[in-house]
Amino acid sequence: MSTPMDITKEISSALASRCLIAQVNGGLWDMTRPLEDNCELNLLTFDSKEGRDTLWHSSAHILGEALERVYGCKLCIGPCTTRREGFYYDAYYENATLNGSHFGLIEDRARRAVVEQPFERIQVSRDEALEFFAENKFKVEIINELPEDKPITLYRCGPLVDLCHGPHIPNTSFVKAFACLKASSSYWRGKADRESLQRAYGISCPDSKLLEDYQDMMEEATECDHRLLGESQKLFLFNPLSPGSCFFLAHGTKIVNKLRAFLRQQYRDRGYQEIDGEEFGLKPMNCPGHCIIFKHETRSYRELPLCIADFGVLHRNEDSGALSGLTRVRRFQQDDAHIFCRESQIKEEVKSVLEFINYVYGIFGFNYELELSTRPEKHLGDIETWNKAVQQLAEALD
Ligand SMILES: [Zn+2]
Repeated sequence: MSTPMDITKEISSALASRCLIAQVNGGLWDMTRPLEDNCELNLLTFDSKEGRDTLWHSSAHILGEALERVYGCKLCIGPCTTRREGFYYDAYYENATLNGSHFGLIEDRARRAVVEQPFERIQVSRDEALEFFAENKFKVEIINELPEDKPITLYRCGPLVDLCHGPHIPNTSFVKAFACLKASSSYWRGKADRESLQRAYGISCPDSKLLEDYQDMMEEATECDHRLLGESQKLFLFNPLSPGSCFFLAHGTKIVNKLRAFLRQQYRDRGYQEIDGEEFGLKPMNCPGHCIIFKHETRSYRELPLCIADFGVLHRNEDSGALSGLTRVRRFQQDDAHIFCRESQIKEEVKSVLEFINYVYGIFGFNYELELSTRPEKHLGDIETWNKAVQQLAEALD
């Protein structure tokens, strides 16, 4: 049985040394896992989101191995990737607190692991998994919550066997550069009444120059941290009196008002009707307000598309540990809009929303990626309508 790796080697050995993960009929597949049937095969490198995530996820195993070896900690939640910049591993330490002074030791140990340890996939029964992790009550808790009908997989990499559904890079030698980034405290399951854990963050790359670029970029990002700028420029402040909800100062309020005026002008130019979105005590996730206004009177097809927008207040019960400046808050306002249109107008309306977004983001120099959302397993309504909607979304994206 041949593997994606075998096929890649036949194409070119240079490619084989860069391919981190395969995509088989749309699903991710280890490069060294035998192919089971005729399939559509894609080969992914660090240039792709999937390739990056796979390298970082695999590097979290290396980090876990190093942490366990050096500190004898119990690995908890992980291996995890953070959005766009590396990975972390949460672990329980009897009484150690991780900080920058520990990173040298962890990186040394990680460097020994990246010589060339393969990732070996092992499928086990629930009882076997429970027996294997009997000494680690955190992993036991996770195993007991896994769905009954899905197979449980462990991955062996060097001395570490970890509970994981994969997939991974072929072996650790693909990680050419590895560094610890920071450490912080966290709670098991994010709950303040459970065990206190230490979270170690790392970053890795398939070549060391790339890692330097990442580190420079992250250093720059720290210097431009909006939380520091907000304080030094007297834009806003946070206070324990109301955690996660921002107090805008005079200068900050000027900026907020300016942004709002800019969007209001855009609403007028683009045919949106602004309404007062504050009529709810707490606005629910499914935003019923605009639907209530739409349903309030009999509508003619000539009124469509009807675009309604507001700056209503939203509340979210974020854990205190998750709060982060203006990016994760408990109270915030966002410009929210709904478009009521005929089925035949969906594509044009989606296109004009995308153009609106592009215009606004362009003014502020924001880069972004678009992803197509398709029908989830749990859904309301009939499949035919879903198919039509998804198709028009896809066409608008193209
Ligand atoms: Zn894994």
